[in-house]
Amino acid sequence: ANIKQTISVTDHALGIITTSEQLQTQFSRLHTISRTKPILDWATRATQLDNLEAMLSDNQTGLAKAISADFGHRSVSETQFAELFPSFTGITHAKKHGKAWMKTRRASISPLYLPAHNEIQPQPLGVVGIIVPWNYPLYLAIGPMIDALTAGNRVMIKMSESAPQFAEAFAKAVAHYFSSDMVCVVLGEVDIAEAFSKLPFDHLLYTGSTAVGKKIMAAAAPNLTPVTLELGGKSPVIVLDDANLDSVVNRIMMGKTLNAGQTCIAPDYVLIPRQHHQRFISLAKAWMQEHYPNIANNQDYTHIINDEQFERVQGYLQKLPKDSVHPLTEVAINTETRLMPPVIITEPALDSDLMQNEIFAPILPLIHYETLDDAIQFINARPRPLALYVFGNNDRAIEKVRNHTVSGGVCINEVIVHVAQHDLPFGGVGHSGMGAYHGKAGFERLSHMKPVFVQAKINGMNLLLPPYGDFFKKG
Ligand code: NAD
Repeated sequence: ANIKQTISVTDHALGIITTSEQLQTQFSRLHTISRTKPILDWATRATQLDNLEAMLSDNQTGLAKAISADFGHRSVSETQFAELFPSFTGITHAKKHGKAWMKTRRASISPLYLPAHNEIQPQPLGVVGIIVPWNYPLYLAIGPMIDALTAGNRVMIKMSESAPQFAEAFAKAVAHYFSSDMVCVVLGEVDIAEAFSKLPFDHLLYTGSTAVGKKIMAAAAPNLTPVTLELGGKSPVIVLDDANLDSVVNRIMMGKTLNAGQTCIAPDYVLIPRQHHQRFISLAKAWMQEHYPNIANNQDYTHIINDEQFERVQGYLQKLPKDSVHPLTEVAINTETRLMPPVIITEPALDSDLMQNEIFAPILPLIHYETLDDAIQFINARPRPLALYVFGNNDRAIEKVRNHTVSGGVCINEVIVHVAQHDLPFGGVGHSGMGAYHGKAGFERLSHMKPVFVQAKINGMNLLLPPYGDFFKKG
């Protein structure tokens, strides 16, 4: 409701959409333009990337403040390094390589067809739809936009209703830096999101929960709109017996406290030999002292986005046996401000809500395993995760984990940072998603990589023509 009050009639003309009717009209416009004026040159695409960069650079303070306001408390430093930084470096990477990515390239050809040749010609798809979640609302809007615009597409982007202040600030910023023939921003609740997912886009890239991902795919099916689904799930950590616990705790706590655990690739739970549990907990307490002293009033520590999420996670905690809950600070949960200090849970029941759902909060279960095969089997008995993390020094054991598990991505002796590598495709597998983006992989995902066979103008080989006679007869 807040959104619609401050969006004016002129804003609509600028490509900010708040109703289903505007959605249909703008989509038809973009669809038509994409067919009549495909963006074939690098200069136009580079200008879009320049616009994106200028928009971010000129508005970064306001956009970061809007995200903080939506969360109540969102560390501005986190917005800077987890959202703005990868956005800027992603734009730089695309500006540097996009011209080469879009070139038509030669592909090899069987001697049988010489002197003809083969080419692969990347083409814009047309209109790409993007649906954004609330947890990193800036980077998960900008990241897909970079790939879509570099590939010469026009973009319609649906922001999350759970981060409304950011959504509105973002829409206004986009409207001032982009023509509405190029990018339109859609604001509104789930009804608009549903209407959006039913539009006959040339591609639809959705980031959000697995449950909604299924609805998106169903909505896209009647149009045969291809989808890229960037979903969630439980990303496990395996700590090998020989791992250096100090560094393990340092990395895992960093990943679990970032954005208060509201990160799709946050380490969800840790498989770790039982003899390490107590030391893990004391190291984690010391880590909190060092990195988030005075968590009750700490500008670096983010709070839970809204009451609905807070209640969901509190519900998980309340159902656990008291002796399995190990708070890492002296500070209590604050329902008013939605502050949730990190806790470790030892050996939660595997059928508990905590272990049946993606946690998406600073709660870290420690689960013991006996042999490495047991740990691998534990992971393989569950839906394929978005990320998998393994810590240790034994290269053969690490290789075994890599080879015998399937996950969207992997970090070895690290967490989370694989998402920021522009030369690595980012995406899930199975229930954690389909299709990957970022960098060249994202460019190709949102292009049509068109195969073209070019016959030689002279000496073109005469393919076998009828009458075939005995040519195909065996013997
Ligand atoms: P969500 O699924 O509730 O909402 C995401 C978007 O979907 C919003 O813009 C919303 O308007 C839209 N939406 C909601 N219902 C819809 C419907 N029926 N039809 C069409 N659109 C609909 O997800 P969320 O709570 O905003 O995000 C958290 C989830 O996203 C977590 O599971 C997390 O792991 C996942 N996630 C994944 C990645 C990734 O890159 N794989 C990144 C961030 C978050």
